[in-house]
Amino acid sequence: MGNSVARKAIFPGSFDPLTNGHLDIIRRGAAMLDELIVAVGHNPLKIEFLPHTTRVEILRQAVADLGNVRVDSFVGLTVEYARRQGVSVLLRGLRNSADLSREFQVALTNRVVGGVETIFLMAGPEHAYTSSSLIKEVARMGGDISALVPPQALPYVQKVEKRK
Ligand code: ADP
Repeated sequence: MGNSVARKAIFPGSFDPLTNGHLDIIRRGAAMLDELIVAVGHNPLKIEFLPHTTRVEILRQAVADLGNVRVDSFVGLTVEYARRQGVSVLLRGLRNSADLSREFQVALTNRVVGGVETIFLMAGPEHAYTSSSLIKEVARMGGDISALVPPQALPYVQKVEKRK
């Protein structure tokens, strides 16, 4: 145990809703870290599918079996949140080249603006096509999204479906 510095990272995102792809990144990330904070961003200007508190609640239930994962929420800049937590590493997932070009820009900006590094995990091949926005679209039209989201998210997503 030569290295006494705890390996901590923050996985920030909207998680609106949480998908099996997100959960895969959380599990694989947590296996490599001492502590992972999954941080649900709250952007008052963004139109929400699920309320912020519901997204936090779903995540708490979905990661309950992972001892080194904590769920939190934040408003505003991710790097400011990281600074307040005393964490200087962010974790993000990459599905394709579109993700890469966007994430590359954000990661470099976060390093310049906040001195924060970003580590990336490639999406599991079975999750590479899964996105929250596609799930919202399918759910709004009454489609079956049960293969794409964790069981903890399903009732909440279905409730939104019924309201439409
Ligand atoms: P944001 O609005 O911050 O992009 P998201 O909830 O959409 O929040 O995504 C959070 C992170 O999860 C991002 O790094 C995104 O690339 C990653 N991600 C989203 N869907 C998947 C997936 N299916 N597999 C792996 N990573 C994913």
